[in-house]
Amino acid sequence: MARCAALKPDGTPCARIVEASQEYCYAHDTRHQEARSRAASKAARSKPRRELQALRKQVSKLYDEVYSGEVEPKAGAVLTQITNTQARLLELERKLKETEELEERIETLEQAQQQGAGSSRWQA
Ligand SMILES: [Zn+2]
Repeated sequence: MARCAALKPDGTPCARIVEASQEYCYAHDTRHQEARSRAASKAARSKPRRELQALRKQVSKLYDEVYSGEVEPKAGAVLTQITNTQARLLELERKLKETEELEERIETLEQAQQQGAGSSRWQA
């Protein structure tokens, strides 16, 4: 059986078995690597991800500013409350999107089932 032609990070050969038509295993195939990094960068560009990154940046900036005395602790506490609200809204938005996606999938399944039931009635 053929083995993957790639080397592992430590310099030893990859031990994964590949099909005769393939030179590299899934992990080392550059075509898959491109697809994976495309998928990863697409996820990084997504709106919820960007908003989460912005919020995280805002929190660590606030931390630094309160710690250094640039922002009064009292103001820092209020800003933290606002940040918490923003985080809750983000979470709410995510849940809502998830629910909508599930509803859509269930609807599609129900339609497929109804069509299936209809055709079997005609066959009986
Ligand atoms: Zn490999």
